[in-house]
Amino acid sequence: MNRRHLLTSLAAPFAAPFAAPFLKAAPQLTIESYEIFRVKVNHRGGWVLLRVKASNGLTGLGDASHGGGDQNVINLIAEFFSKAKGRSPFDVELYRRDLIATAEAKGRNGSVAFSAIEQAMWDLQGKAVGLPCWALFGGKLHPTIRNYANINRATFDRNPEGFAKLAEPAVRDGFTAIKMASFDGLPKTEPARKEGTDRGIACIEAVRKVLGPSGDLLVDGHSNFNVAEGLEVAKRLEPSKLFWFEEICRGIPVLAELNEKIAMPTAGGESIFGTKYFYPYIKGNAVDITMPDVKYCGGMLELRKIGAMSEAAGLPVAPHGPASPVCNMAQAQVCAAMPNFLILELGYGEVPWRGDLIHPPEVLEKGGLLRIPDRPGLGIELNEKVAAEHAL
Ligand SMILES: [Mg+2]
Repeated sequence: MNRRHLLTSLAAPFAAPFAAPFLKAAPQLTIESYEIFRVKVNHRGGWVLLRVKASNGLTGLGDASHGGGDQNVINLIAEFFSKAKGRSPFDVELYRRDLIATAEAKGRNGSVAFSAIEQAMWDLQGKAVGLPCWALFGGKLHPTIRNYANINRATFDRNPEGFAKLAEPAVRDGFTAIKMASFDGLPKTEPARKEGTDRGIACIEAVRKVLGPSGDLLVDGHSNFNVAEGLEVAKRLEPSKLFWFEEICRGIPVLAELNEKIAMPTAGGESIFGTKYFYPYIKGNAVDITMPDVKYCGGMLELRKIGAMSEAAGLPVAPHGPASPVCNMAQAQVCAAMPNFLILELGYGEVPWRGDLIHPPEVLEKGGLLRIPDRPGLGIELNEKVAAEHAL
C-alpha cells in the first residue's frame, strides 16, 4: 500500500467515533444561510464577497474574487454551501475532507468557492468564542503585517512613465515595497518580442528610480519566458536589485533549473490548490519563496499548512492576493501567527473607496504596515453602504 492509500484508508473508520464527542463539546452553532455581495472595481473585474450567517445570528466573511468567472464561482458556492449548511463552523477539517476533491475537480472556480466558505467558517469561529483568528492559529508573532503595493492592476499606460506615475503615490502613501508585471502581453514573435522585453525592463528601471535604492522592488514574470529568456532577463535585471523575480516560466523542473542558475530570489505558487500540489512544488525546489493565496489554496487552514510545509523546507511565505480588504485581512490573520511570514500583497490604486469597503476601514501605517486587530474573528465587517454604492 502506498502512503497516500494508507492515509485514505485510515480516514474513514476514525472519523465517525472522534467526530461525535467533539461536536458535543463544540458550541452549539450551525451554518444556516449566506449572501453574496459583488462590487465593481475596474477593467480587471470586480470583487465577490461571501457573508455566511450562523444559527445564533453571527456572520462570517470570505473573499470569492478572481475565480476565473464570477457567476461560475457563485454557482459553486451554492453547491458547496448545501453541504456545509447545518454543520458547525468549527468542523473545518470535516468540510475539507468531504469537499476538497470536488473543489479540485472544478478547477479555479471550485478552489475559490471552497476557500471562501472556509474563510467565513474561521470568522464565525473567532466570533463564537470571542477570539481573533490569529489566536486560533497559534498566537500573534507579528503585531503588524508588511504589505507591498502591487501597482500592476491599476497601471493603464504600460510604458516607463505609466508605471512610474503609479509608483509615486504608492511611495508617498508609505509603501517601501512595490510589485509590477511589465512583461504582460509580451508578443510571441520577433522583433516585437525583443522590443517588449526591452520596454518591460525599462519600466522596472523607472520604478526603481521612484522607489529609491533602499526600497524593495518585486517583478512578476507571469510565466512569459522560456528558460533561456528567463536567464537573460534575470541577468539584465541584476542592477535593479530585485526583492524577487516571480513566476518566470511554467513547470516545476524548469523553474528549479532557473532557480538554481539565477542569483536573485524567486517566488511563486499563487495558483496552486492545497498541500497536495504545494508539496511537489516545494520539494522540487521550484522557488525560494512560496506564494499561496487564501482564495485559491483552500482557505486559511490550508494557508497555515502550506506555511508549515514551507517552514520545514526553509522557505519564507509571501501570500499572493491583490483582491479585496477581506482577502487581505483573512491572509494577515494567518500570517500574524506564521513564523516564516515574509510580506503580503495588496492591490494598490484600484479604487479610492477600497479601505471603506470594510468596517473599521482598512488603514495601512507607514511602511505598508497593517496592524492586526484584537477583535474577534477577522476583526472586520462589510460596510454594506459602500458595497451597495459600488454594486455590480
Ligand atoms: Mg503573480
